[in-house]
Amino acid sequence: MLELKDVTAHYGTSQALFGMSLDLQAGQVATLLGRNGMGKTTTINSVMGIVKASGGSIRFDGQELVGRASFRTANLGIGLVPEGRQIFPNLTMMENLVATASNHLGVSDPWTVEKVFALFPELETRKSSMGNLLSGGEQQMLAIGRALMTNPKLLILDEATEGLAPLVRRKIWDALSEISKAGMSILVVDKNLADLMRISDRHYIVQRGEVVWSGSSAELQADETTRRRYLEF
Ligand code: ATP
Repeated sequence: MLELKDVTAHYGTSQALFGMSLDLQAGQVATLLGRNGMGKTTTINSVMGIVKASGGSIRFDGQELVGRASFRTANLGIGLVPEGRQIFPNLTMMENLVATASNHLGVSDPWTVEKVFALFPELETRKSSMGNLLSGGEQQMLAIGRALMTNPKLLILDEATEGLAPLVRRKIWDALSEISKAGMSILVVDKNLADLMRISDRHYIVQRGEVVWSGSSAELQADETTRRRYLEF
């Protein structure tokens, strides 16, 4: 479904991606792991066209994404839950959910506000609260709900549970697990290895702008040397 091959990216003269390659099959949950500043966000932003890849290829459902405007990439069916959530502060919860809702692919059973509330019941009671008055956990649930309301085939989450309390994190992992079981493909960046190993099929460890290790949860669990070398924060 998503294939990155030898992707390079720069910020001015400074190179951030040095040949990122990974692939995600339809229905899979894959992770990008690695310490801070290794290129995970840059990889995601290259997929979305927020950062322009300077080389390599990014294919989604057979279409090349490099050089494509972000909104056109989103319209192909990629929903982004960005780092920092980026909720509209001066819109209500409900307005945030519907403001960017769409069904460009003509999904027959599209996401609705009711379905988002069924996934995150705590959002329903906060329908009229302004975005900036929501808690971090509510904002993250809203950011996921807002992305789902664009009816993506692939959901990408950058720092899915950063800064959230354990109980809220659990709710978010349970929700992601539920939507992945319903067939959603997910690419996720996070630091909670135990949770990621529970819900993911495949992991990619990123070090200085390239993938240095990939494998299943069982392989990562068994490989203490790799975890120590690349993932201890
Ligand atoms: P984090 O978890 O801290 O977000 P990351 O793995 O997502 O880390 P990136 O944010 O992709 O890493 O950063 C990769 C490299 O690119 C780092 O060296 C970082 O300093 C650099 N970088 C990121 N954003 C910019 C920017 N806007 N301008 C210049 N350099 C940047």
